[in-house]
Amino acid sequence: MAFLDELGKKLGSAANATASKAKELAEIGKLNADIGSEERKIEKAYTEIGKIVFAQAKENPPAEIAQWVQKIQESMAQIAANQQKIREIKEDTVPREEAATEYVEVEVIEEKATCPHCGQDAPREAKFCPNCGGLMEIES
Ligand SMILES: [Zn+2]
Repeated sequence: MAFLDELGKKLGSAANATASKAKELAEIGKLNADIGSEERKIEKAYTEIGKIVFAQAKENPPAEIAQWVQKIQESMAQIAANQQKIREIKEDTVPREEAATEYVEVEVIEEKATCPHCGQDAPREAKFCPNCGGLMEIES
């Protein structure tokens, strides 16, 4: 049975290798997630720095940031213009008159019959009760 022993060892070490590979991948995944998290913190910090620099330098920005300051100002102008348009649209909108639709209440009267065997409602046209299967009374 030396062959089988050998095979068993091979399979066992293959399983171990697979398990440790999975562990490695899980660890790499976690490390990559941490990297992503730190990168987002950096982006956030850059943004905050940018806001401060923008506020200080927007009037007379140094040449190396002038084009970015201009982009922000253009976007701010566009936003302000759009917000103004929204206000104008809202002012123009006359509140609608209450819709003059008269709601006609339609009472739906279902034709019902009562099963003489179990007492449950059943459609009037039913020959047999859908609840107990009994023959419906021949009424009306
Ligand atoms: Zn019935």
